Amino acid sequence: MSVEKIEVAENERALNFIEEVIETDIAKGNTRIQTRFPPEPNGYLHIGHAKSICLNFGLAQKYGGKCNLRFDDTNPTKEDVEYVDSIKEDVRWLGFEWAGEYYASDYFDQLYEWAEQLIKKGKAYVDDQTQEEIRQNRGTVTVAGTNSPWRDRSVEENLDLFRRMRAGEFPDGSKTLRAKIDMGHPNMLLRDPIMYRIIHIRHHRTGDKWCIYPMYDYAHGESDSIENVTHSICTLEFAVHRPLYDWFIEQLGIFPSKQYEFARLNMTYTMMSKRKLLQLVENKVVTGWDDPRMPTITAMRRRGYTARAIRAFADRVGVAKRDNVIDFSLLEFFVREDLNKTAQRRMAVLDPLKVVITNYPEGKEEMFECVNNPEDESAGKREVPFTRELYIERDDFMENPPKKYFRLSPGKEVRLRYSYLIKCDEVINDAEGNIIELRCTYDPDSKHGSSSDGRKVKGVIHWVSAKYAKKAEIRLYNMLFTKENPDDVTEGETFFDYLNPESLVTVEGFLEPSLAEGKPGDKFQFERVGYFCVDTDSSPEKLVFNRTVTLKDSWAKMNR
Ligand code: ATP
Ligand code: MG
Repeated sequence: MSVEKIEVAENERALNFIEEVIETDIAKGNTRIQTRFPPEPNGYLHIGHAKSICLNFGLAQKYGGKCNLRFDDTNPTKEDVEYVDSIKEDVRWLGFEWAGEYYASDYFDQLYEWAEQLIKKGKAYVDDQTQEEIRQNRGTVTVAGTNSPWRDRSVEENLDLFRRMRAGEFPDGSKTLRAKIDMGHPNMLLRDPIMYRIIHIRHHRTGDKWCIYPMYDYAHGESDSIENVTHSICTLEFAVHRPLYDWFIEQLGIFPSKQYEFARLNMTYTMMSKRKLLQLVENKVVTGWDDPRMPTITAMRRRGYTARAIRAFADRVGVAKRDNVIDFSLLEFFVREDLNKTAQRRMAVLDPLKVVITNYPEGKEEMFECVNNPEDESAGKREVPFTRELYIERDDFMENPPKKYFRLSPGKEVRLRYSYLIKCDEVINDAEGNIIELRCTYDPDSKHGSSSDGRKVKGVIHWVSAKYAKKAEIRLYNMLFTKENPDDVTEGETFFDYLNPESLVTVEGFLEPSLAEGKPGDKFQFERVGYFCVDTDSSPEKLVFNRTVTLKDSWAKMNR
């Protein structure tokens, strides 16, 4: 799969194919639109789910319909309430509210009743074959399967056995309920698919009430139908399941929900599978589901991404009918675009070099007024202390600069943002020759605007007062993997072989004092450095900031 290049243009997008379907339905008089987002509560939601959430809830909003949140909790072995809670939190954070909160497990009684109905119609039977025998007798794409020796049991016998399965008389794996369709069907999913299996395990909602659990194909469409879902939107891999989805609904004569498939969202340098993300968590490659390097919604929230940015991203990637891969930098583009409008500016130095202004009186201090956000006047201003000793960014100084270097260098002048012009007079080295300090002089008349004699100074750099700066742990995040598609590995390798050792780099930074008041989640632009937010680990005793995204727009560069 090649990486999709998407034009970042402001023009209005055309209707996607699902919107076309809906508008056709509405034109026919079917104006009630009901969608649903159906996560399995077996992990935290990732950006792929966010795409599905924005699509399902977005369509309901656009067409005056409703969207349900339905937990697809039919497999008790992997599910947990922890995940239910996190899913609800994530959907709400993205900005959506569900019309109804439902659980497939709430439908177990109805599903069971319908299964008996199918048995009575001669459309389902109890099979005593083991899972392995069932698999072997399924045939292949070119060879028809073999009928089970139990396929022609009488309705009475099937009913009796199915009831006893439910009553717990049989051990796990000893029997299944199968739909009686066609063992020679060209679509292998229709070769007598399993509807129920025996699992003697507690369910997080129904407790010990059940020891038989419905399979996805049987439960999903029927749950849609119970909720009168008009447009059941899922990902492409379910396209081959659609005939089965329709078969059950038709046989039962229930509300005819319709399934539509769109391409999964895939992104570069990360993975979209809860199962694999769980492996990263379990192997402690990351600190948890909300580690800011994860592609989960909870991690993106912690990292400082905004819901608005994610919604804009989801809208821009649109709805594709064929699998594609979206460049991660497209998401970063939207994050940057949103934070540029909303994040207040601050000054912070991540790699400090000390500057002493030798002609600035000892003990003198001034406060400089700084604009909080040039994009938003209502954000106001703040004061930043200026003192004789400052920190500047180490790479804002070069001892032997190339021609077009406009930052600080020996004998050259630069503007300190919001304050004075300074000139570097002397470079102090330690015994090993490392630069440890710069001796500078300032022009006292250069406070407002440029110099008094009109000389031109091009460079502007940021700074913090050495006396008042607050130390903070700054976590710089990079891609978690070094490979564009970490799943694309050769034999003997796994995605663990492509972890980026530099996915997290921690530095000690020096911040202007007002940043000490930030609360977890507060977002800032560190001028000239990037967008940062206060991490949930941060406390007044130990400030911790996450780098949300760098300032540099690598996306724009790529598309040039
Ligand atoms: P995973 O493989 O990560 O576990 P899943 O499809 O099993 O994903 P579900 O909880 O079953 O996860 O998914 C809930 C909904 O989100 C489904 O409708 C599914 O199609 C959709 N979804 C899951 N992953 C993606 C993705 N990468 N892009 C778009 N939609 C997705
Ligand atoms: Mg699933």
